[in-house]
Amino acid sequence: MKVLVAIKRVVDFNVNIRVRGDGSGVETNNVKMSMNPFDEIAVEEAIRMREAGTAEEVVAVSIGPAQSAETIRTALAMGADRGIHVLCETQTEPLAVAKLLKAIVEKEDPGLVILGKQAIDDDCNQTGQMLSALLGWAQGAFISKLAVAGGNAEVTREVDGGLEKVSIKIPAVVTVDLRLNEPRYASLPNIMKAKKKPIDQMSPDDLGVDVAPRMKILKVEEPPKRQAGVKVENAAQLVDKLKNEAKVI
Ligand code: AMP
Repeated sequence: MKVLVAIKRVVDFNVNIRVRGDGSGVETNNVKMSMNPFDEIAVEEAIRMREAGTAEEVVAVSIGPAQSAETIRTALAMGADRGIHVLCETQTEPLAVAKLLKAIVEKEDPGLVILGKQAIDDDCNQTGQMLSALLGWAQGAFISKLAVAGGNAEVTREVDGGLEKVSIKIPAVVTVDLRLNEPRYASLPNIMKAKKKPIDQMSPDDLGVDVAPRMKILKVEEPPKRQAGVKVENAAQLVDKLKNEAKVI
């Protein structure tokens, strides 16, 4: 079985996000970019499946600007077999990404598509669900365990109030949560090997997908600064402040 993994290049999770002066979005110039952390977990899971013999090939797909090829190289250095880069210089919304992934799925015919549960830049948490709907495939979202056997995938989902186990038919789309695994670091020899692995480049037009945005961002602004807290001497003072200053009781 072939496994397709969707990986997005996002602002590194350690970076302190700054809003652009003109309020048009988040500053990405001279900012460290990395693979979306959930997508590293997705890549790791796909590689583990190949190592365990449940998958034969792992294909990493990224949609984004020229630099997204570096993100694909990272996945190849972790162990993915080849990459597909859909070159797209404009920001793509989840529906456009899902349509592009659907077109790639139709060409590649994978048994499983693994995505992160959300991209940490837009926090949409939509792409996997949209892809499964467009394909008419089963989905397992927010998974913390995956076992593929026969024509099914047994997945454990992280849901409010606990864990839910479901069995879904393959081919399927799954989105991964934090506890699924701990992604490996790429070793130096594997980073060198990754340079020789193929990355196919294509455009949204090649895939027949219109990626024009359907949403207009009106303004991005920082949340209001929180005021410093104060220490109260006793419970009575706390109750007084909650009643008369915060007016919450
Ligand atoms: P989102 O719905 O935007 O929160 O993204 C959920 C997941 O969809 C991510 O963790 C990725 O696996 C995948 N994804 C979103 N955008 C892209 C992209 N531009 N290229 C590749 N995969 C993406």
